[in-house]
Formats: sequence, C-alpha cells, structure tokens
Amino acid sequence: MDQNPRPLPGSTPDEMFPSLTPVQQSRVLAHGRRRKVTAHETLVDFNQQPTKFFVVVEGKLDILRVTDNREELFAVCGLGMFTGEMTVLTGRRGLVRIRAAEASELIEIDREALLALVQTDSELSDIFLHAFILRRVELIARGVGDIVLIGSSHSLDTFRIKEFLTRNYQPYSYVDLERDADVQNLLDQFQVEITELPVMICRRKVVLRNPTNQEIVDCLGFNESIDRTHVRDMIVVGAGPAGLAAAVYGASEGLDVLVIEANAPGGQAGASSKIENYLGFATGISGEELAGNAYTQAQKFGAQMLIAKDARGLACDRRPYALKLDGNERVPARTVVIATGAQYRKLLLENLSRFEGAGVYYGATHLESQFCIGEDVVIVGGGNSAGQAAVFLAQTARHVYVLVRSDNLAKSMSRYLIRRIEETPNIELRTNTEVIALSGNDHLEAINWRNQKTGEVERHKIGALFSMTGAVPNSAWLEGCVVCDDEGFIKTGSDLSKEDLQRAKWPLTRSPYLLETSLPGVFAVGDVRGGNVKRVASAVGEGSIAVSFVHQVLAE
Ligand SMILES: Cc1cc2nc3c(=O)[nH]c(=O)nc-3n(C[C@H](O)[C@H](O)[C@H](O)COP(=O)(O)OP(=O)(O)OC[C@H]3O[C@@H](n4cnc5c(N)ncnc54)[C@H](O)[C@@H]3O)c2cc1C
Repeated sequence: MDQNPRPLPGSTPDEMFPSLTPVQQSRVLAHGRRRKVTAHETLVDFNQQPTKFFVVVEGKLDILRVTDNREELFAVCGLGMFTGEMTVLTGRRGLVRIRAAEASELIEIDREALLALVQTDSELSDIFLHAFILRRVELIARGVGDIVLIGSSHSLDTFRIKEFLTRNYQPYSYVDLERDADVQNLLDQFQVEITELPVMICRRKVVLRNPTNQEIVDCLGFNESIDRTHVRDMIVVGAGPAGLAAAVYGASEGLDVLVIEANAPGGQAGASSKIENYLGFATGISGEELAGNAYTQAQKFGAQMLIAKDARGLACDRRPYALKLDGNERVPARTVVIATGAQYRKLLLENLSRFEGAGVYYGATHLESQFCIGEDVVIVGGGNSAGQAAVFLAQTARHVYVLVRSDNLAKSMSRYLIRRIEETPNIELRTNTEVIALSGNDHLEAINWRNQKTGEVERHKIGALFSMTGAVPNSAWLEGCVVCDDEGFIKTGSDLSKEDLQRAKWPLTRSPYLLETSLPGVFAVGDVRGGNVKRVASAVGEGSIAVSFVHQVLAE
C-alpha cells in the first residue's frame, strides 16, 4: 500500500506547530475562555465536526491519528501551541483525535469566534493559516484519514477519483491493482469483485463501488455543515478562478457568500500544470496551487462552499432568486454570480491530457508563440479563432499547418482571414484532415494525421498543436433565464441590446451594470460570459469587479 502521491512538505515541526507569544495568547483569550482539563481527557474526536480551537497555556496535548481503532501519535502540542488544521475553516469532519497528554490548562475558543478572529487580526491569521496548511499537507503526505482507494492506473475512473480527492485536499491511501500483492486480501475483506473497481473504502466501513464525486462527498460529509435554507447575499455558481475571485472579494467585504461547485475548486485552471502568464508569478504557478490558495483564502474570509453539487437551474421568476439543486432543493439568494466557465472542445485522442500544456495549447498568445519560434506548428480548427492563430503564429513559426475536417473554410471563417491565410506563404491548409495520434515523452514530439478522402496518413515531427475548435459555455442549465448570444455565451452590460432587454422584460429604469445579465442582480463572469478573454487573469478580474456591482444591487 503506498501513500497518496503528494510531495513531502519538508516543513519543520516548528513551522507546523509554532508557539504563540503571551501577547498573542491574550488576543486569542479575548475571544474565548480558560479551561482546565484532566489527563487523558478527549477534547476533539476523530471524524467529528470541529467546534472548538485550543491554545496550550500549561501541559500538553496529543494529536492522534486513528486507524481501525488504533491510535498513533501524529504530533504533540506543547506550551503556547495551538490545535486545528483546515477542517477548522471548512467545518468538515476532523481527521485526528486531540487528547490531553497530562493535566493541562488551555485557552478554548469556539470555531465561529476563531473565524471572526482570523478576519480581524492579520498577524494571528497568518500564523494560523500557515500552520493549518502545513499540517494538512503533512496529513496528506502521511495518508492520514480514513479513505482507501483501490484502483488501476489504467482506469479513467481511478484517475477521476484521485484527482477529485487531491483537488479537495483530502488525504487517502491508494492501492494499485497492478502493483500491490495485498489487493486481493483487501478486496476479500470487503467482499469486492475485481470487476467492481475502482473501489473506495470510506471510514473503513462503507464500500463505494466506482463512486460518483457526489457519493464521495456525501460519505465524507463535506457539505453537511452548510446551511442551505437562509437567503444569501450572493451565491456564486462555479469555483474556477472567476468564481473563487468573486467569493474572496465578496466574503472579505462582509457579504454572506455561498459557492456551488459541480466538481472540485479550481475549474479549468486547477487542471493546468503551469500558468505562466498570471501577474506576479514570474516563474509560473501550477493551477492546483493557485486554486488551493484561493480556496483557502475564500474560506478564511467566511465564504462557504458546496462541493460536487451541480446547479441544475435558476428560479428566476421572483426575488430572492433560488438556485435549484438535486432533489428539488432550492437555495435562495439576493444576487447570483454565474461563473460556470466553458468546456473546450477537445480532440478525441487517448493520450491528449498528457500533452496539454506540453505541446497542446488552447490559446495562441505571445506566450505560446515563444515555444515554437522557427518550428513547424499545427492548428486544428476552421473558425475565426483558428484563422487568427494561424496568421499570428505564421509571423514566428517556420511553417503552419491548418487542419480542418471540412472541404473548405468558407462556411466557418471570415473572408478576410481566409484571404490572409491564402496570402501567407508559410501557412498550408489541409482540408478533409483529422489528427489521429500524438506521440512524445514529456512533451509532444510528433503528430499523425489522416486525409479522410484518400485515407493517406502522414507523420510529422511537430511539437506544438493548437486546438482551436471552440468552447461550449456551461450555460444550458440556466434554461433561458438570461439572454445568451448565438453560441450560448451569456450577454452582459452594454452587450445587451434594447431588443434583448425588451425580450427579457428588464424591469428597471437603469441599464444593466457592467457584467450584469438581463436579469437584475444576476452577473456573469469568466469564460461563460460573451466577449470574455479566456484567461485566468481576466476571469479573476471579472469575478472581483462583479462584487462591487453586487453591493450596488443590494443597496437598491
Ligand atoms: C488545458 C488548459 C490550460 C490553460 N492554460 C492557461 C494559462 O496558462 N493561462 C491562462 O491565462 N489561461 C489558461 N487557460 C484558460 C483558463 O483556465 C480559463 O480561462 C479560466 O479557467 C476560466 O475561469 P472560469 O472561472 O471562468 O471558468 P472555469 O475555470 O471553467 O471554472 C468553471 C467552474 O464552474 C463549475 N461548473 C460548471 N457548471 C456548473 C454548474 N451547473 N453548477 C456548479 N458548478 C458548475 C466547473 O466545475 C468549474 O469548476 C487554460 C485552459 C485550459 C483548458
């Protein structure tokens, strides 16, 4: 059995368990009370929602990992040290047991008081957050938790579950069918057939056979502490960069914010191995790290997050609006920020994801063009974005192949772009052609394509493929509540014509604000919005800007 594949943190115990100074302790005490505990008294139990947070004034606490009713010492919390990790912020069930190692005196504060404290005391906030994150990373590295995943490295569902758990910072142990001789024993123990893999053993009791993300979340109780009945100031749908930005700004400015995310936080950016063009990160930042930081930041400010929950519809006929979830559940909101992004149409190639960001790109900006100066490149697609990319890349690349499945470009591309392509000597159009294979090691090295008419297959040593086959916005779930353009991207602000507003029965004398849809108080940000530039930075910018208009709507 191996531990889940996270890098070891390399943090020292001092960093994970810093001691508060007497002055800092007194600032915590101002929000709580002193409490004396006897030796061996259990203060927080494993698998319970955290309600208290402690600082040790005298004595010490044992932090225990619990597996199959066996306890193992994870850490000792000594003088001036404090308890807690990410579950204190999220309100999810705890991963460890905390027990007094000896008779001790503590400062005890309630979780709500701690959440208020981290929003007002920036010094303590930094100390707590830093320690909580390091502790969670260490728990993940040691596979602490009560989840075992049994699967195969060749199975897409195993990959999905691993990715889901990792992106939700959930520790787990992984047993690989192909590599681990003990698998059969484990399967026998839980009466599972090999054909039922991947299997997740949750809390050592519940056996989930190829569970959906929703089933995983239900078993782990991720969403159980979140109230869904009271009217929120703002509900954000989608926790990609746009939604997370809205959540951070909204919650930090005092709004009662709930985020509804169909999968895991991070959106498309969360899956990006390295984002190199995001301001302030000169050496790039992985999507996972960016999303993780934003997620923690949103929770620090008090935003709550429903994970693995699809918004199925918007009840838009009266205010407050309500987001429709599974099973007729409705969550009411005064304002809504739609940040559900778009799905890039992808080439149906088995190993595509291996080369995404490593030779396969979905945008052709200056950054990507730097990767292929003087090289041959392939562009797949016959729309305007493909045409623009071809003309742009032809300035620096040696040769640009444009591959389309149709007979010509006339139906899909603007005339001026077709002419530019025809006039540019190093652009070559290949019609009736589709990519059939990609190959390479760490990076794309060669592409095979086939002419559908002649059946002829060509293989070219090319390390850059630009997939420009368009994006489909995730807006169908809105069932016509807001006006969209012909491709389904949501129209906002001045893009909404008089006719659009008349058709939508816009009820106010004012025009829609920037980023506001045809429904007052409902905003659209990021990739799902018509006219948006599909970049992490613009998604983050729009998510944060929308919040200032949310304030104005709430004040109306
Ligand atoms: C492979 C790849 C690499 C990229 N690299 C870069 C890069 O290097 N630099 C850059 O600037 N941009 C990059 N981009 C583009 C960038 O990732 C997107 O522009 C950005 O993520 C858009 O953010 P968003 O929040 O609008 O949408 P998304 O990131 O798509 O997030 C939308 C979220 O909404 C959720 N959702 C959808 N429907 C529902 C629903 N009904 N209910 C609840 N939740 C829902 C989704 O699960 C998702 O988490 C890349 C994109 C891809 C695909």
